[in-house]
Amino acid sequence: MDNNWFDQLLPKVPGILGSAGALMWMQGTWPRKGAMLVLGIAASNYGTPDFVVATGFSEGLAGFVVGMFSMTAADWVFRAWDQFALGPLLNEWVRKRLGLPPKDGGGRMTPHFSLAELTASATAQRQCLDNTPTPEALQRLALTAAMLERVRAHLGVPLIVTSGYRSRAVNAAVGGVTSSDHAIGAAADIVAPKYGAPYIVAKALAPHVNALGIGQIIYESVGGKHWVHLSTRVPDKPVNRVITVSGKKTLAGIQEV
Ligand SMILES: [Zn+2]
Repeated sequence: MDNNWFDQLLPKVPGILGSAGALMWMQGTWPRKGAMLVLGIAASNYGTPDFVVATGFSEGLAGFVVGMFSMTAADWVFRAWDQFALGPLLNEWVRKRLGLPPKDGGGRMTPHFSLAELTASATAQRQCLDNTPTPEALQRLALTAAMLERVRAHLGVPLIVTSGYRSRAVNAAVGGVTSSDHAIGAAADIVAPKYGAPYIVAKALAPHVNALGIGQIIYESVGGKHWVHLSTRVPDKPVNRVITVSGKKTLAGIQEV
């Protein structure tokens, strides 16, 4: 019997301690911390002899330092990975390479509508405004996405959402009315160029509001731009359910403007 194993283990103890010590100020899940601990110990195990030669440190101190710094380096890598969302990017790249359809990490609300497209806002991006939906708005958006899915099936063509959820700040920035259904996640503005002009789309949908679960449909025209506003909320006055808004004018029904 000899105590060779003990002689071999003893110099590694400081490296293990250094690695474990670095865990104290590291953030992240326990699996991640565990992975880093293994990395730190491995680095101190294999890197220490070179470090001793290079620096002249005692083996114990060298093990401690290498263990600690390799864990810190690993921590930086993990953080950069999160910060630049490299995981989803890599996932998307691999899927593209393999010819698989894009998958946006649970962001899909229905087969054809994602949370991303229902919350996209050029104004929010330009002015650095937060457009994260509240939990209540998120529930409303799920109903809105389901309604859009029915509309898409009815028309038989893809819809382009030009504006969905607008947080209070974003709604104010785009000049939307305070009571806007967009601000509660109940409305989406859409166009469907493969079906026809927004007027044609509005005309096609108006007779089917009940069947499609459309609470309100507005054919909107502002400054030469046209789109169809669809909301899951039924307005208080039935006459407002199917309307045309052109500039400051409001007309009953879908009217060519
Ligand atoms: Zn709208």
